[in-house]
Amino acid sequence: MPTNTSRPVRVRFAPSPTGELHVGNIRTALFDWAYARHTGGQFIFRIEDTDTERVTDEYIQAALGTLKWLGLTWDEGPEVGGPYGPYLQSQRLDIYAEWAAKFLAQGDAYYCYCSSEELEARREAQRAANVAPGYDGKCRTVSAEDLTRYTSEGRKPVLRMRMPDGSTTFTDAIRGEVTFDHNFVPDFVLVRGDGSPLYTLAVAVDDIMMKVSHVLRGEDLLSSTPRQIRVYQAMGVTPEEYPVFAHLPFVMGQDNAKLSKRNGEVSIAWYRERGFLPEAICNYLALLGWSPGDDRENVTMQELTELFTVERVHSSPARFDMKKLEAINGDKIRLLDLEDFLARVTPFLVKDGIISGTPDELDLVRMALPLIQERIVTLAEVTAMLKFLFGENFAIETESLPKIADEQSQIVLKRSLQVLEQVGEWSHVAIEAALRLVLIDELALKPRIAFSALRIAVTGSHISPPLFESMELLGRDRSLARLKSAIS
Ligand code: GLU
Repeated sequence: MPTNTSRPVRVRFAPSPTGELHVGNIRTALFDWAYARHTGGQFIFRIEDTDTERVTDEYIQAALGTLKWLGLTWDEGPEVGGPYGPYLQSQRLDIYAEWAAKFLAQGDAYYCYCSSEELEARREAQRAANVAPGYDGKCRTVSAEDLTRYTSEGRKPVLRMRMPDGSTTFTDAIRGEVTFDHNFVPDFVLVRGDGSPLYTLAVAVDDIMMKVSHVLRGEDLLSSTPRQIRVYQAMGVTPEEYPVFAHLPFVMGQDNAKLSKRNGEVSIAWYRERGFLPEAICNYLALLGWSPGDDRENVTMQELTELFTVERVHSSPARFDMKKLEAINGDKIRLLDLEDFLARVTPFLVKDGIISGTPDELDLVRMALPLIQERIVTLAEVTAMLKFLFGENFAIETESLPKIADEQSQIVLKRSLQVLEQVGEWSHVAIEAALRLVLIDELALKPRIAFSALRIAVTGSHISPPLFESMELLGRDRSLARLKSAIS
């Protein structure tokens, strides 16, 4: 990555939480974090909440919670503080106001009195005349009469930045040299009529004042870069103090459409509720637009920090692939040791009302977990897998009832009951041996057919952990009672 200075690496993640953080935001946060850790720099977390109507405290808290859950710890930011705080833009309004006043005094910015109706009418005319839409510079000069009129009408001006003629060129660490012709970068608003700052002002001021050295962020923000550079110029800082920009490729949805915030499927909360592991999400997102240099699919956080360089970030869009995320999640579940696995599934079982969390219940879950560790892809599946072990009111799921009602299934169940009543030690080995003898050897049934009716009778579902082990865990009395009640 080009470092135009030898100054310390300081990378920031600066979301505007107008909703739950989504896959795209987290991919950015992860790359920011990984770059800071790889270089031994600082990772700064800044909340861009100048849009007070849309950024709520609840979403801010959720954003902090999500980063923590993923293990992306920050060196400076909310809760931990730091030398360049505060790190919530809503607490820095006086700083932006000071800079805005300076830009006005310097002549870099000017008051614009155009009403939204006037602006809309002129945009309409621009569209009709086929010229690039955007502010036409009308208020760059305001006559004394107009000023008097605007004031008497009670108009509240916005503060606009003057874009000089020409163009802005910068080197993006991922896309190379990028040039924006100012014909397409009209004078832009820095401060609203009510005095509140806009994103472009706040982000640029903060990146400079917080000594941010590298801005790794989504490609959707590429076009705001010339405006931010304009603010740096007005601040009077030298190009050596500008951050290096690296715009990350888009994350596309499976159908090639852009992932959107409105789509609940992309919020990280959605994945968390379904039992995706934070390490699986990070592993998967790390590979979304970056590669470790070989074709490995399993990347730990440690490896990510060791290997992460911007040179290995691709410039083409990455496609989100749910199947791949699920496969990685399944792999990470298989890596969990038993106590960790237990700790992670318990909240799901409690939330779903399967257990309340007593030591006896946890002992039973602990015994059952090795049976399902190879079989589940998300933690939430544990409920469907283990609910047969708990609760007084056992019932066979309605859609499976017909599958045990036919004559052959009833024969299977009756014969099974007869032999199981004779089994001495209630172990899965003994259970299996007894059942195979009557069902496979004697009745000459195919195992799939023979055991599916039994599985439904005993676990209530056609999906369960391995049958014989399930019966062992369930115990003799409950297993036999269920068989009896399934024999209609
Ligand atoms: N706050 C901006 C957003 O969430 C990102 C700011 C930046 O990374 O420059 O879209």
